Amino acid sequence: MIVGRAAGQTDTGRKRRRNEDAFVCDPPLFAIADGMGGAQAGELASRLAAAAIEEAAAAVSDKEGVVGVVRTANARIFQRSLQDPGVAGMGTTATVALVDERAGALSVAHVGDSRAYRFRDGTLEQLTTDHSLVGELVRSGRLTEDEAAVHPHRSVITRALGTEAEVDVDTLTVDLRPGDLVLLCSDGLSAMVRDDEIARLLGAADGDPHRAAEALIGAANAAGGEDNVTVVLFEVVEGEPAERTRASSDGSPPRPALDPDEETSETVVDGVRRHGAGKGSRWPALLLVITLLAIATFAVWWSLLR
Ligand code: CA
Repeated sequence: MIVGRAAGQTDTGRKRRRNEDAFVCDPPLFAIADGMGGAQAGELASRLAAAAIEEAAAAVSDKEGVVGVVRTANARIFQRSLQDPGVAGMGTTATVALVDERAGALSVAHVGDSRAYRFRDGTLEQLTTDHSLVGELVRSGRLTEDEAAVHPHRSVITRALGTEAEVDVDTLTVDLRPGDLVLLCSDGLSAMVRDDEIARLLGAADGDPHRAAEALIGAANAAGGEDNVTVVLFEVVEGEPAERTRASSDGSPPRPALDPDEETSETVVDGVRRHGAGKGSRWPALLLVITLLAIATFAVWWSLLR
């Protein structure tokens, strides 16, 4: 098996002014980080995590490596918060997934409530355990899933990256086979869209990660879009694993942090990252084309009249 098409997409949602989520889509390594903290601290925390993960991508080859990357990210965020009182206390979730194509296995390391799911034969399975207040109450039987879904403190997480010098990282490994779809998401999706609806949308996307990403973000926003929503998806297909050459392994510097004041949407298709400066950015170009076409049409009409 090998990783086929992959897509990552993030959206500010309908209620928040800023996007504190970040993601990595660098097959066979994938990650989601959902930042928290006042002012721009949440954005900084999630971007520091994503940058640390992306930097290490070429060197990570097993579960221990994935955990190491999470610990490195933790140390960097924590160090930064010690240096800069303005961002003290910032933190982020991190869910990092690595595919071992030769072994047909997925290793996940995670802290916080960003989830990993495996979608197989029409069934959605949540792989991670939410490190959240309501997650723990549900596991101890003191809250039902339905109560948790509307609980006022449902966004409170019990573990985060960057808030302390050391962090407790959960890990798991599951098998993968052709036809599987793997989804990583921030709680902006899982808190807005129920698992059965996520499963329905994944099924309707017919294995296309990009279509699925669009549909999931659309559904989160249709349900209210109360939080930033980020999804990373990839499909598992038949194939012989080959040595991968990745952008991050050629010594090029990691991508610069996005301007936090800019509302951006980012899309990664088949591992190619595309930055888009907001949803309106294509309109000026389109308007120019329409104007030029109108002028050309008028010129032809005018010359015919004469
Ligand atoms: Ca969130």
